[in-house]
Amino acid sequence: MKSAARRNAIAEPPPFCYPCRGMSYEPVIGLEVHAQVLTESKIFCGCSTRFGEAPNRNTCPVCMGFPGVLPVLNRKVVEHTVRTGLATHCTIARSSRWARKNYFYPDLPKGYQISQYELPLCTGGHVDVSGDGASKRVRLTRIHMEEDAGKNIHDVRGDHSLVDLNRAGVPLMEIVSEPDMRSPGEAGDYLRTLRSILEYIEVCDGNMEEGSFRCDANVSLRPAGDDELGVKVEIKNLNSFKAVEKALEYEIGRQGRVLSEGGTVAQETRLWDPDAEVTRSMRSKESAHDYRYFPDPDLLPLDIDDEWIGEIRATLPELAQDRRDRFMEQYGLSAYDANLLTQRRDVADYFEAAVQAHANPKAIGNWLMGDLFRVLKERKLDAALRIERWPVEAADLARMVQMVDEGAISGKLAKTVFTDMLETGKGPDAIVEEKGLEQVSDSSALDTAVDEVLSACEAQVAEFRAGKEKVFGFLVGQVMKATRGKANPGMVNEILRRKLQG
Ligand code: ADP
Ligand code: ZN
Ligand code: MG
Repeated sequence: MKSAARRNAIAEPPPFCYPCRGMSYEPVIGLEVHAQVLTESKIFCGCSTRFGEAPNRNTCPVCMGFPGVLPVLNRKVVEHTVRTGLATHCTIARSSRWARKNYFYPDLPKGYQISQYELPLCTGGHVDVSGDGASKRVRLTRIHMEEDAGKNIHDVRGDHSLVDLNRAGVPLMEIVSEPDMRSPGEAGDYLRTLRSILEYIEVCDGNMEEGSFRCDANVSLRPAGDDELGVKVEIKNLNSFKAVEKALEYEIGRQGRVLSEGGTVAQETRLWDPDAEVTRSMRSKESAHDYRYFPDPDLLPLDIDDEWIGEIRATLPELAQDRRDRFMEQYGLSAYDANLLTQRRDVADYFEAAVQAHANPKAIGNWLMGDLFRVLKERKLDAALRIERWPVEAADLARMVQMVDEGAISGKLAKTVFTDMLETGKGPDAIVEEKGLEQVSDSSALDTAVDEVLSACEAQVAEFRAGKEKVFGFLVGQVMKATRGKANPGMVNEILRRKLQG
């Protein structure tokens, strides 16, 4: 099948060329994503995970790290992580283990983070990333579960820092990719595809600004054609897809300059500074943490049976890539349109609901891609899963397109109806009636309008009769103007032709 072939074709982008003593260098990129698992309560206690609460409101002795308390695992976190593993073709470990990752920081009250180290829940797997037409497979190393830390706040009181533990114990999945990406654009495409998968299976809301989808980027250069990996730099503080791509561009340039001057790249962690648009050294390898991981004695190994995995697999929805292929086949959409319409599940659902109400997928798709996307952006509703807040219902959009198709309103006036629906939330029939926007298809009314224009524009009529075909468009325009855009343009054309020839 065509779609399968497209998916398996590995597009190798040309290596970036950083001339270094006659050599060109290829960037190698691997990403670590922290995705907040969409649950009501935290991973090891019953506290709420709600964002934006008053500081330290969502806390209890467990997530504040009081001595003597015991963690109790939230089953939903495991279920969502298994679902993610299945959607990305991972192997699900029937037995996995919890580990303590030890370090001290005021936002980590226990002095260790509960995570998974050896024996993570998911391993292997891959994500097929579709960029411009071609598709590229990025392999996953692992997906494991862990708890988030709290937040230190340094800048509200001059002389001391504050700690907010609302986020401590919020469940995360860490999704680690193999170093399979070769350009910043590919890294961006991978992140968009991954986020789309997580949104489709409803395990993460994908909101980068609120920190529920975060990414650290690892990048190195190596001589083009080499198999061995170069020394990598890890970049942190990336708060948007744009930041990831820009930071990688910058870092590839910086490493390229180091190498071309005969230097060596230092293995280190660097921070992206979004204002200056540069990366700055944060810590070197020598000062890298030794976390002294060991199995957590408070938690039993996590054993999962095949039956539960089977149940979770049965609930997986059709994912974006399959849906895109189906949209192309079923609705005759181009690959580009189908891709845009299926990237978000809420948008794809909305599209299908509208098409169900009125079968004109092309027109409905165009309204969505042109007008809906613009409005979502303007109103900042495009972050994640927010389409349900969009004021025009799918059935109303469908009805409006139907009215255009049936000639009840002109395509031009549909813009007015659309804007009105957005502002008032009313249905298209009510708006058309209130504002008197029905298209005039009554031939005797149009006859009169045409006659009036012809007698008012004698000079132009003469020009037309003398062979100046261009004037015809002007005359159509005059009739449309006289009817305030409500005349059926097809009929105006026909009547004008007839009268001018007569
Ligand atoms: P660390 O021990 O520093 O955590 P890992 O081997 O666990 O490093 O890899 C972390 C991430 O860095 C993974 O996403 C991996 O694909 C990526 N990575 C590893 N080595 C390189 C490299 N040489 N260049 C680019 N990315 C790399
Ligand atoms: Zn708690
Ligand atoms: Mg690692």
